[in-house]
Amino acid sequence: MKLGTIMVALVAAVFVGSALSAFAEDKAKAEAKKGVAKRLYKDRQEFVGTIVCVGCELEKRGAHAQCTLHAKHAQGLLARDGTLWTFIDNTRGHHLIKQKKLLGKPIKVVGWKFPKTQYIEAWSYYVKKGDKWVHWDYCKICGFEPGEFKGTDKCPGCAEDGEDEEEGK
Ligand SMILES: [Zn+2]
Ligand SMILES: [Zn+2]
Repeated sequence: MKLGTIMVALVAAVFVGSALSAFAEDKAKAEAKKGVAKRLYKDRQEFVGTIVCVGCELEKRGAHAQCTLHAKHAQGLLARDGTLWTFIDNTRGHHLIKQKKLLGKPIKVVGWKFPKTQYIEAWSYYVKKGDKWVHWDYCKICGFEPGEFKGTDKCPGCAEDGEDEEEGK
């Protein structure tokens, strides 16, 4: 091959290479702009386990968790397979993290998980009563209550009160 031909080939290779990386960059930018789609109601899953203190559980696994210092025994879910899940601390998750009555209880949490994380975004949960799972749903006025509120955040009573207000009664 003549030197000239080699030079042309090299220049062409560099050009194609930079064009390709620019293309990849554009694609990444476009994806970042688009963002990841929000979780869908229908994609909720069930997580069965026991409510435990995350820090105290980690202490058992060798951590120096200092559970009383900052975390104040914030609760998570110990799944049957030994996976320790943390709850996203939103209005629904906060209840699971803080409600001491749930500590040590077998529970079935309905919610979402996200790639490469061990966080659950909780939606509702079931607590075992006898050998039955009782569903608890979230009402933004009452907090968690037994029942199914059909994807809304109000129990039937509060939903009715809301209707009354809307009608100006
Ligand atoms: Zn603890
Ligand atoms: Zn209510």
